[in-house]
Amino acid sequence: MPADTRAGDGPGAAGAEVRAWLDAHWDPAQTLGQWWSALAESGWAFPAWPVGLGGRGLGPSSAGVVRDELDRAGALGPPTGVAAWMGAPVVLEFGDDQQRGRLVPPVARGDELWCQLFSEPAAGSDLAGVRTRATRDGDGWIVEGQKIWTSTATVAERGILLARTDWDVPKHRGLSFFILPMDQPGVEVRPIRQLNGESHFNEVFLDGARADRADLIGGEGNGWAVALAVLGHERTMAAAGTMRPGPDAGSKAGNLDTPVGDVLERLSELVSIEPPFPIGSAPELIGLAQRRARAAEPVLRQDLTRLWSLGECSRLTALRSRAAAELGRTPGPESSVGYLAGVARARLSRDLVFDVLGSAGALDGPAAPEAGEPVNMALSSLAHGIQGGAEQIQRNIIGERILGLPREPQVDRDVPFRELPA
Ligand SMILES: Cc1cc2nc3c(=O)[nH]c(=O)nc-3n(C[C@H](O)[C@H](O)[C@H](O)COP(=O)(O)OP(=O)(O)OC[C@H]3O[C@@H](n4cnc5c(N)ncnc54)[C@H](O)[C@@H]3O)c2cc1C
Repeated sequence: MPADTRAGDGPGAAGAEVRAWLDAHWDPAQTLGQWWSALAESGWAFPAWPVGLGGRGLGPSSAGVVRDELDRAGALGPPTGVAAWMGAPVVLEFGDDQQRGRLVPPVARGDELWCQLFSEPAAGSDLAGVRTRATRDGDGWIVEGQKIWTSTATVAERGILLARTDWDVPKHRGLSFFILPMDQPGVEVRPIRQLNGESHFNEVFLDGARADRADLIGGEGNGWAVALAVLGHERTMAAAGTMRPGPDAGSKAGNLDTPVGDVLERLSELVSIEPPFPIGSAPELIGLAQRRARAAEPVLRQDLTRLWSLGECSRLTALRSRAAAELGRTPGPESSVGYLAGVARARLSRDLVFDVLGSAGALDGPAAPEAGEPVNMALSSLAHGIQGGAEQIQRNIIGERILGLPREPQVDRDVPFRELPA
């Protein structure tokens, strides 16, 4: 069992220490920027990260204890999102000391927000098929191509970029991974208007954007290994249920000067990126059915019980994943099972809210039942089962890794990328 890396720093000791620190430092009147800076400087922001980079070099189990203590104190946790969940962890793993020192502290303090420049119009599930090219130019690279579905790109300071640097080797071997500065002339972000009226994600056009040598993480041609590590972090956190919504970090997002108490209040209104929706949990829907005098109907009761059971199974699976993650283990196929359970919960809760409200549920606006949230749930539910990997891909993983079914044929695996049809 991996132990905490500093002698005498078990989870119990970390819990007591962070409790005392919170007593002295948690103050909802300070700004979000001040609070996140204090957390990072104390090392309690990301306790498993190295000392001086927002952490304390503690083991993964201590990080869970610290998170619980923050919750108990009613304090806001550290920055969330691509940078904190996936970007900085791979910089720590694959970057050199100079890159760690330059890139990680602004993430720990919440000074920067990063986006994920992975998906392309013809490369989503087949991520290794990306066609954005990075061509050597002096001591750096010129980047050209198009990314799509890039969440929060409008307010991102940097993007984690997967690009092709070699077209003469098979597709997984010709990729490189960069941390690309977004504020430069060759980067154009165009918001995509979504079905629910929001513009959460974007197209990103890269036309002569520049990545410097210092922006390359893990070495040229090693991008697939870094991208797999990114997806591994994403799966671990999603499976453990630790991807909580948080305020957007970074100066462009405009939250850093807001009192952290106000931010906490606003957070409760944020649509969670994990199911269920704000009014989609079993207890919420049971309450709604009771208020609408529908709770005695047998078929509805069965469905509500089904939703509750799915929720409990997800909760327990997430606890198992979290325990495994805290012991330093990588997630197994249970993360795919947890993902599909989440998709099922999102769809069932969406359908149930309409069952309870009837046609009035289709009304929108503040005066509508539940302030129009059912309409938002219905339109947003389509993202579940796509974001974080298409559900059919998760089923493939379950088929191959749990059920022992034959692997999918991959005819393009050993062919130079240049020879593959576009
Ligand atoms: C809300 C949201 C936010 C997102 N944010 C980001 C982001 O910030 N950054 C980013 O890079 N991407 C982001 N994405 C994109 C997301 O990662 C992709 O949409 C996803 O990986 C699927 O890729 P695709 O859309 O290209 O679909 P495709 O891969 O083209 O799939 C289309 C259909 O074909 C099926 N299919 C494909 N291959 C197989 C196979 N081998 N076996 C069986 N069925 C298959 C899929 O399951 C799907 O039903 C986001 C998506 C959503 C919905």
